[in-house]
Amino acid sequence: MRALDGTRAVLMDLEGTLYAAGQSLPGAADAITALRTSGIAVRFLTNIDSRTPHEIALELVGLGLPVQAEHLSTPVTAAAEVIARSPGARVLALMSPALAANLPSVVAEPPYTHVVVGDCREVLDYALLDAAFRAVRSGAELVALQRGKYFKRPDGDHVDTGAIVAAVEYAADVTARVVGKPSVEYFQAAAVSAGVDLAACLVIGDDATTDIAGGRAAGAVTVQVRTGKFADQSRTGAGEQADVTLDSVADLPALLVGRS
Ligand SMILES: [Mg+2]
Repeated sequence: MRALDGTRAVLMDLEGTLYAAGQSLPGAADAITALRTSGIAVRFLTNIDSRTPHEIALELVGLGLPVQAEHLSTPVTAAAEVIARSPGARVLALMSPALAANLPSVVAEPPYTHVVVGDCREVLDYALLDAAFRAVRSGAELVALQRGKYFKRPDGDHVDTGAIVAAVEYAADVTARVVGKPSVEYFQAAAVSAGVDLAACLVIGDDATTDIAGGRAAGAVTVQVRTGKFADQSRTGAGEQADVTLDSVADLPALLVGRS
């Protein structure tokens, strides 16, 4: 592991790391402030694919967390960048109309060049799933905003985007391109926005399959917190081992500050 005193930016997960069950976690807001005060850039990297950065930032500020939309990356913004780099794109969007409005080149009829799958709770039915399959079968690229199996809510766990992606992959016998975590490109873009190399970044999150696996692949120091999905994953052994494990994000400044 690289020495921690080389850390110039922290790429921080949101759900399960800064807040859980609709409440900010104890010490999370102070941890962000302490990092910034010590000159470490903080960027927020989420796999939330159901809201825009602006909506998410408003919600977090409501929970007392100092998070600005311009420091926040979501898979929706990452997918929009991928599509924008593809001339002549024609996109079939499996997501709510409000979210699809954030993607360029969404069209209503085939032929399609890309099938982008995100939070589709509001729109998913057999006809849409079948249209996605037929488009991919005809050569469109399957793009997953993220491939989480389930997400947590105060009332329990719910089916996530990854299960829908897996249905199309299975039927069409393809592997989706993932634009959210654990994609190295996603971490790379956040590092660029902080003005530092990935090698000077620390990735912190609760999910060993996205935050830690992606952070390791990106060459950053990884820190897993024992909040959010940690308990589920330590039971099943899912994901990768982090360089450091902390009880919560509140312990991060003590790990870094004073060394920087
Ligand atoms: Mg998380």
